Amino acid sequence: MPTNIKVEIVTPEKTVVSEEAQIVMSPGILGEFGVLCSHTPFLTTLKTGTVRYIDANGKERIVFISSGFAEALPDRVTILAESAERRRDIDVKRAKAALERAEKRLSGKEESDIDFTRAKAALDRALHRIKIASSVT
Ligand code: ATP
Repeated sequence: MPTNIKVEIVTPEKTVVSEEAQIVMSPGILGEFGVLCSHTPFLTTLKTGTVRYIDANGKERIVFISSGFAEALPDRVTILAESAERRRDIDVKRAKAALERAEKRLSGKEESDIDFTRAKAALDRALHRIKIASSVT
């Protein structure tokens, strides 16, 4: 029986996840990384993407996060994200509408004064949400 680690995913609005996990995989800025109990402490920046963890019952859980930070300590991982939703809470219709808006902006056909970095970040969030919501595990 593996020893569990506490995983917390927190946004400025709320705590999205607070539970025990066997392993936590996160989208680090330099690539995906996993944290098990007794891991060496570290702090890292996260990209928009997917956090996966295996809960105490052995079930895989999938959560969308929009960029942030992770702090790993020997007994816990804390993820601070700009936004986060468990897979079941993702509103696909809303994500598709956000994708359409971002694509329109990036096409350059609509407005003349476009913040491309912001539009690309919105596109990235929408694509990840759609991908996560339609993933089968
Ligand atoms: P939108 O343009 O639809 O608001 P966004 O990517 O700009 O999308 P965020 O800034 O990442 O949205 O999030 C704002 C709030 O809305 C957060 O609480 C986030 O969890 C929630 N949210 C955004 N999009 C979705 C979605 N498709 N499903 C569920 N919650 C969402």
